[in-house]
Amino acid sequence: MKTISMLIDGQPVVASQHFPVINPATGAAFAEAAAGDATHVDAAVAAARRAFAGWSARPEGERQALLHAVGAAIEAHMPELMQLVTLETGKPLNGLGGVGAGMEVGGAMAWTHVTADLALPVEVIQDNAEARVEVHRKALGVVASITPWNWPLMIAIWHVIPALRAGNTVVLKPSELTPVATARFVELANAILPPGVLNLVTGAAGSAVGPALVAHPGVAKIIFTGSTATGRKIMASAAASLKRLTLELGGNDAGIVLPDVDVKAVAEKLFAVTFHNNGQTCACLKRLYVHESIYEALCAELARLASQAVVGDGLLPETQLGPVQNAMQLAKIEEFAADARAHGGRFLCGGERLPGSGYFYAPTIVADLVEGCRLVDEEQFGPILPVIKYRDIDEAVRRANDNPNGLGGSVWSADPAAAAAIGRRLECGSVWINQHGAVQPDAPFGGIKQSGIGVGFGEHGLAEFTSLQTLKIMKS
Ligand code: NAP
Repeated sequence: MKTISMLIDGQPVVASQHFPVINPATGAAFAEAAAGDATHVDAAVAAARRAFAGWSARPEGERQALLHAVGAAIEAHMPELMQLVTLETGKPLNGLGGVGAGMEVGGAMAWTHVTADLALPVEVIQDNAEARVEVHRKALGVVASITPWNWPLMIAIWHVIPALRAGNTVVLKPSELTPVATARFVELANAILPPGVLNLVTGAAGSAVGPALVAHPGVAKIIFTGSTATGRKIMASAAASLKRLTLELGGNDAGIVLPDVDVKAVAEKLFAVTFHNNGQTCACLKRLYVHESIYEALCAELARLASQAVVGDGLLPETQLGPVQNAMQLAKIEEFAADARAHGGRFLCGGERLPGSGYFYAPTIVADLVEGCRLVDEEQFGPILPVIKYRDIDEAVRRANDNPNGLGGSVWSADPAAAAAIGRRLECGSVWINQHGAVQPDAPFGGIKQSGIGVGFGEHGLAEFTSLQTLKIMKS
């Protein structure tokens, strides 16, 4: 069995205890990871603080070159990293619509290179006979990165690379459910970066590692991706030392389908953006509002696609959808399905676990629900979609917005300009027209309302890893 060490100050660190890492396709452990504790957090933060002065003072071009080398190392180890991602997340190597471990590792590589090339130039506010006023971006110090289990490697990259690019050092804590590919990435990066610049601490479920890291006085900023409930706890803990925060939290993204669409063509796209990675993506489509004139036809088409999807072990090349990532998430999906049944939901397909020891659930389409049940009101984060009927577009926009989340949304129509005008009315950080969840490394992405604070990606995302310093040089 593979054993995962922590990595602190450039050195592997073992712990006296380990915790198992489960392959969700089998329900059995395939690796074990070091069960770190608060003393490891202290050591990692101390190492990152020591490394900060040298790393932040390094010329930008040198930091960029080292990060490009990290991107090249990810590329050189792509098959190995894909295998690890599939084993720990269950996500297929290729997956529905090409969204799988290959996309996760390929995306990690692409984000690394694009982010390495980003710049935060000095802004000149005034330059005249009286004075020159410049605004500089300065690194913050030690960044704590806490990542979830759904896209563990990709999200680690989303946190770590901009933090390092801006001149910070990092202590990374992956989800206890998925530390394996992240640990390998940290190991590869440490062969390139100076010691202490990027540290990894792992902890078992309910361990002190996450709370100790977010409360640590030596940490300047926390970047957290995960559930809204944990985000609230982290924000409360960060208040004590006024740490900077980026919170990328849960979503309950609505899609609105206008009556002018080609039902068959749009169904295929809707199915892919809802069910890829088994719906376990923050910006998957999670509530679908469909005009009454095409409602039954679109429901039938979605049910046909769901029934035909190939569900299985992600290591098999034909698999489109793997297992749900963990037993708790599977139990939550079963609860949501039971609640939907109790609220009169019409199950057009699925609605049950699949046999075997893995955490498999049949792709499920539920019609005839309205708000007031868990499957519509809360984030399901699994392969089960409520399809909701609407009559007029103002009603659809109001219902889409009537939710505490505000991550993404989409409008689907044969008239993209009209759809864009409707999209602008949605209360969310990203809106897609005839697409959903299509993030890219140079455009900001983040949630509003309860879906988070701040953004990632592009120069806006990079700026979140800096503080502003205004420099006024008097000339007379
Ligand atoms: P989670 O349960 O909130 O856990 C996320 C991370 O926080 C894990 O590493 C977890 O460690 C750690 N953690 C838990 N309690 C903590 C505490 N008190 N202090 C510090 N750290 C703590 O979320 P998840 O179930 O892994 O992820 C799924 C959620 O992430 C969904 O809601 C999804 O929408 C959201 N998400 C959002 C985005 C976005 O960009 N907005 C992207 C992806 C996912 P342990 O696992 O060791 O407990």
